[in-house]
Amino acid sequence: MEHILKGKAVAKEIKENIKTRASKLKEEGKSPKLAIVRMGERQDDIAYERGILKNCSSVGIEGEVFKTDRDASMDEFVDLIKRINNDSNIHGILIFRPLPDQIDEEVIKNIINPEKDIDCMNPVNLEKVFEGDMKGFVPCTPRAVIEILKHYGATLEGANVSIINKSLVVGKPLAMMFLEERSTVTICHSRTKELQEKTKASDIVVTATGRAKMFTENYFGNNNIVLDVGINVDENGKMCGDVDYDNVENKVKAITPVPGGVGSVTTSILLRHVVMACENMK
Ligand code: NAP
Repeated sequence: MEHILKGKAVAKEIKENIKTRASKLKEEGKSPKLAIVRMGERQDDIAYERGILKNCSSVGIEGEVFKTDRDASMDEFVDLIKRINNDSNIHGILIFRPLPDQIDEEVIKNIINPEKDIDCMNPVNLEKVFEGDMKGFVPCTPRAVIEILKHYGATLEGANVSIINKSLVVGKPLAMMFLEERSTVTICHSRTKELQEKTKASDIVVTATGRAKMFTENYFGNNNIVLDVGINVDENGKMCGDVDYDNVENKVKAITPVPGGVGSVTTSILLRHVVMACENMK
């Protein structure tokens, strides 16, 4: 197994697959299209949007941005989502979050058409994941973790896995995905006791705490495969993960870098979902 598990090679493989599927769809007269919904002008959103649109055009997916003011009302926002739901030329919807306070995300989640819900917001899609059905729109970041491990040939069946995160976007769905691969999973969080012993004893460790460089070498041994989901900024303003990479890299069996690891695969999973949604459409 390679030591540095870079996301680029994994994303490339996924994108090649998307390209083939998108051109087949075009031959059948269908053109996969993504709607990006952005409220206001947050710089993070604009940068993310630029990246997604660039990726869309590189794989043959059309992208259209639907913008509202940041202070648009709940009624206006609901109308917009319903309009996109009903537009048969649009196959996938991506809503940038966090949404402003006046928008009730719980309501929006349930309004978004499950067949266009490529980011797995609607509980209908999330429920399938908890039932063990991974063929639909699964949460993209957990899926990226599994794809990286499979790409680099890690053994998942029978593996002991520690996930340090219990959120609905990362930890819980990822635990379901590992269970489907017949791994044994421990979900850890801020109240977990003896965390260092648990991580050291695991074959695979997934960190997603949002705490820059929290996981020092004391958490690891040379049998660990480490997947760092965290996206943080360090004391010098540079992007970093949850793992103290420079001090951990040579101690573990394999590790994903940040940037260039899990995050770089997440967008390709999202785009694969757009093609899937278009294929599913009658
Ligand atoms: P979240 O809801 O805040 O979850 C953080 C989790 O970490 C919680 O379960 C929390 O425990 C646990 N935690 C926090 N401090 C801890 C500590 N000292 N020891 C042990 N556990 C601790 O965040 P999220 O939305 O799931 O995202 C987590 C991280 O992943 C963030 O850095 C985010 O930027 C990143 N992320 C990356 C991608 C990607 O594509 N790479 C996508 C989504 C998110 P409690 O539940 O007990 O509080």
